[in-house]
Amino acid sequence: QVQAQAPHVVFLAFPTQGHIIPAIQFSNTLASEGFIVTFMCAEQRIAKIRKSQGAELNPSIRLIGLPDNVPLGELRIDEGADSFLLSLRIADNMAPAFEQTVNGLIKDSKESHVPPPLCIISDFFVSWSQDIANKFQIPRYVFYTSPASHLTLVLYLPRLLEQGIVPVAPDARGIVIPGRPPLDGSEMPWDWQQSSPKEVNEFSFRNQLRLHESSGILINTFYELEGEAIDALRTEAINPNKVPIYPLGPILPSWFLKGEPINDEAFPDQTGNECMQWLDAQAPSSVLYVSFGSVAIPTIRQIQEIARGLDASQQAFLWILRLPPSATEATDLPEGFLSRTHSRGLIISTWAPQLLILSHPSTGGFMSHCGWNSILESICSGVPILALPQFAEQFLNSRLVAEQLRVGLKLQRGTDDVAESDEIEIAVRELIQGEEGRAMKKRARALKEEAARVVAEGGSSHTTLNAFVQAATTTHAQT
Ligand code: UDP
Repeated sequence: QVQAQAPHVVFLAFPTQGHIIPAIQFSNTLASEGFIVTFMCAEQRIAKIRKSQGAELNPSIRLIGLPDNVPLGELRIDEGADSFLLSLRIADNMAPAFEQTVNGLIKDSKESHVPPPLCIISDFFVSWSQDIANKFQIPRYVFYTSPASHLTLVLYLPRLLEQGIVPVAPDARGIVIPGRPPLDGSEMPWDWQQSSPKEVNEFSFRNQLRLHESSGILINTFYELEGEAIDALRTEAINPNKVPIYPLGPILPSWFLKGEPINDEAFPDQTGNECMQWLDAQAPSSVLYVSFGSVAIPTIRQIQEIARGLDASQQAFLWILRLPPSATEATDLPEGFLSRTHSRGLIISTWAPQLLILSHPSTGGFMSHCGWNSILESICSGVPILALPQFAEQFLNSRLVAEQLRVGLKLQRGTDDVAESDEIEIAVRELIQGEEGRAMKKRARALKEEAARVVAEGGSSHTTLNAFVQAATTTHAQT
């Protein structure tokens, strides 16, 4: 009996958590749509995935670790901007092994039950995979883990470079991108700033300019959240090559989107248990969750101001506190902070189960660096945001949160670009207890319901997913 072969895709992720988490989640979605997924990333990252998530992965996902040629000791996973620079280098170093592996998959397919890959889906930061896709004559789809509103700028990059607006001067004002309100230089992506490392500027430009060559861009967003930006992405001015745009998010586990806090898939580890038990003992919607994602570490001055603000606010908080390498809790937090806040604050210094924390009924607000995953996760839990962006496109995202979606407040910054304790104290109270906070929470809850609808049968993202599956498998039939 002859069985039709399952379609096979190769997935290549950028080696930081904010890119890997949605990539794995989307691979699970593809696998449940009947695809075989060969998922590749840097060796050390794949080892981590195997360890932490191995059991939850759909068996149709095959993990392959690519040697990244960065000595083990040098790679300080999840530790600040230095590790981001390392990630860029690792991303580039994966190229030869990736090409070899794809070549192998094609060759081996003759004697195997796994057909040759019909496309490559790869992160927007590994554009060299376009050359490999071209070489093997298969389409490359881009996996986009930032919002559509960021992509409008990125697709417009060729013009911005031509006009000399990018790299962005520190005092630039009124930057015009079709279909959106003008931006100040400080809101433009960190990787485009003249003040950022040259290596980062060049890395970004090199990767982003090639999005126009791809066969489609899969974005972790949804039409009901970013309709205007998604429409703009389909205009000639921004997307002259008419690259198909697939907004098919939010790419999050279905237990989370449906509001079922804990099941086997999400069963917490030791830190998770500690957080859940502590949250269980707090009043509903009373806790401010504080976290800056997997890469950014605020300056020690900013951390001290946050501590003073939390102290003065009298609110309960769960703080994922990662300090700069030279600092310690005992010596660098304000005197008496830990003892004064002991009864209403929990500080965690390791990786925390963010989805579980956000979906816990005691969580009432999220002080966030505005990484796109964190924003989506907060919205999909109906939790309003206190925005304190750090780098990448987070300044742009914070504007989306505060001004367009109006599900959060932006912390104003004083001298040295630091948000001060008075500002933090007032904003935390407003978010958790105030009228404005309540209104933002209501809007966030409405978006949470919308998010659950769009990924269900007939919803906008579900329809887009079907359109992508159709496009990917049709190409397959022709080759
Ligand atoms: N995250 C987590 N526990 C942590 C820190 C981060 O689960 O202690 C997850 C978070 O839920 C999100 C991702 O890591 O899915 C971070 O992505 P985001 O885009 O928010 O920020 P980035 O780390 O890329 O700056």
